Amino acid sequence: MIPLSPERSTSFIPEPDIGAKRYYLWTVGCQMNEAESAKAGAILRQAGFQPARREDDADIIIVNSCVVRQQAEDKVAGKVGALAKLKRANPELKIALTGCMVTGQEAKLRERFPHVDVFYGPSEFERLTELTPELAEVDVDLAELPHYYEDSENETGISAFVPIIYGCNFVCSYCIVPYRRGREISRPFNEIVNEVAEMASRGVKEVTLLGQTVNAYGHDLPGETELSDLLKAVNDVDGIERLRFLTSHPKYFTDRLIDTMAECEKICEHVNLPVQAGDNEVLRRMRRTYTVEHYRDRIQRIRDTIPGVTLSTDIIVGFPGETEEQFEGTMRLLEDLRFEKVHQAMYSPRPGTLSARWEDEIPWSEKRRRHQAIEELQTRISAELNDRYRGHVLEVLVDGKQKGRWRGRSRGNTLVFFDAPGDWLGETVNVRVTEPMTWYLIGEINQ
Ligand code: SF4
Repeated sequence: MIPLSPERSTSFIPEPDIGAKRYYLWTVGCQMNEAESAKAGAILRQAGFQPARREDDADIIIVNSCVVRQQAEDKVAGKVGALAKLKRANPELKIALTGCMVTGQEAKLRERFPHVDVFYGPSEFERLTELTPELAEVDVDLAELPHYYEDSENETGISAFVPIIYGCNFVCSYCIVPYRRGREISRPFNEIVNEVAEMASRGVKEVTLLGQTVNAYGHDLPGETELSDLLKAVNDVDGIERLRFLTSHPKYFTDRLIDTMAECEKICEHVNLPVQAGDNEVLRRMRRTYTVEHYRDRIQRIRDTIPGVTLSTDIIVGFPGETEEQFEGTMRLLEDLRFEKVHQAMYSPRPGTLSARWEDEIPWSEKRRRHQAIEELQTRISAELNDRYRGHVLEVLVDGKQKGRWRGRSRGNTLVFFDAPGDWLGETVNVRVTEPMTWYLIGEINQ
């Protein structure tokens, strides 16, 4: 699964023209959702709408939902529920709810949220035409709209996220994604390469290729096309300086992919490889299709082949039936493999999935205890790993300012801050690390 990002709204936007109709996008969930919200925004702009700064200024509000965890679903339900007040105050307001919450649930949602005008599933952009006459009249060629979005956390336009494969063919027992996003569909190879070339011509320097299982790319295309081929082609695009991809499945993290990472100078030395659990019986019940031994072998091969690589992983604690001993297996794996970062979640059953039929017998207090134990372990490991950068020079792509300091990421995806006069936005600079912190680094320019 692609890591969840915090909810975002249409921020960093200019004041709309007086009299223009406005839209407001509220997005929660993975980066695929971010990409789809960006596409909805492009359609609305083609129809003459402009982005609103606040939801109470908007004529159209689109909520892009996520149900991968109970917490995300609750947040969306709270948001949509709260919009009823705005609708009562302004009956002309149009509201759409999209994303994974909608697939197959329209009838139920219509009853629960009668103030919502349109419900549409992921990628069903043609349904937007039901919202307003302007949208029904505009002749938008959906195939012509870009699939990518630029990072809304910075204003530089230097980083872009490009979905390359939609859906997922795995059926992990806890995961709702395949039911809501369907089977894998890879985008055509040349379409992606041309899109990246066009972005590079506009100044984009860093590209992240996205998919729920990004390294399944090409399996549904004719011929032998794989993610490695696409990475090589994007690596050759002039103007692109950095290349990343998210999120990989351990089953398809092949030797060829690892060798491609080592060969292509623009592919950053960072891998996010979700393991989910450090015990074979838990992995089997999760239907992850690999063993702990396979996972360890992949990490070893990555480390042997890509010098200086940094690693992150995803963990679920409190999966049904996870014993204390099995949890200890996960702790041992984390202690041994020493990831830079661990994204962890406490298990919550997702209705419709296989594991939701099993008893969720581990109490929240115990899930929280396990979560806390991993957090403490990982805080120590991350601090130790960051400390090794003290005095080292890292290449940092500067993407903005935060609390008065310049901010960027190293090739290993570590957040780096530095103080320096001048304008460094969008520049790639060498930074000597002076103060390693647990989750980020502080340094000074070393040009
Ligand atoms: S089914 Fe498994 S591989 Fe596919 S998105 Fe869900 S967790 Fe990831």
